[in-house]
Amino acid sequence: MRKNIVAGNWKMNTTVAEGVALAKEVNDALAQNKANCDVVICVPFTHLASVAAVIDQNLLGLGAENCADHTSGAYTGEVSASMVASTGAKYVILGHSERRQYYGETSATLREKIALALANNLTPIFCIGEVLAERENGTYNDVVKAQIEEALFDLSAEDFSKLVLAYEPVWAIGTGKTATADQAEDMHAHIRATIAAKYGQEVADNTSILYGGSCKPSNAAELFAKPDVDGGLIGGASLKCADFMGIVSAF
Ligand code: PEP
Repeated sequence: MRKNIVAGNWKMNTTVAEGVALAKEVNDALAQNKANCDVVICVPFTHLASVAAVIDQNLLGLGAENCADHTSGAYTGEVSASMVASTGAKYVILGHSERRQYYGETSATLREKIALALANNLTPIFCIGEVLAERENGTYNDVVKAQIEEALFDLSAEDFSKLVLAYEPVWAIGTGKTATADQAEDMHAHIRATIAAKYGQEVADNTSILYGGSCKPSNAAELFAKPDVDGGLIGGASLKCADFMGIVSAF
């Protein structure tokens, strides 16, 4: 059966020293209070090796926030999936709306990134979600379905089963505006039905689908109580141990 997961996305925040301190704090909190779900932090590339050295990945998984769409070579400034894996990280966020919006990531680039992440035994946390105009004009279900079909549906069922999905309505990211638990559940059920139509019900039932967008301790329990919401991808609230643990303890 699918796992419940709470994953932090630190984005472009913290120095290495601050990040190591935060990771240790979260690790220690999990050592004291065992979580009822998998817990992951996705941190800047610069932090990965140092954070890997101070956490117990049986308690707290580690991931990157992106990886390159090429294996290696003359791509100045890029970080490959194999480099990420060599730090000890096990996860990678791919297709975050900020990468799509500010760095022009397309479904074609994302297909390459997913293939390279899987080839390096990284678990992609693949993000999908509509912008506000698409929510308001009623096309959100089609938009999200197309994002899934274009980037993921050339995968075998075996490879698809290695993914974690994160539904993140762009209008809810960093805005303080959360999707209601019912809006999240409707979309998660739609995503699961989309997966079932392509790969079958068993694969769909085994896929963890996280909700992301202004998730915090005060709304996490209501969101996570929904049958198709299998946890959260947490931005701002993952930067404070108490807030992040408040969300983890919603399970
Ligand atoms: C995110 O960027 O993945 C996210 C969910 O951000 P926030 O929690 O800050 O809305």
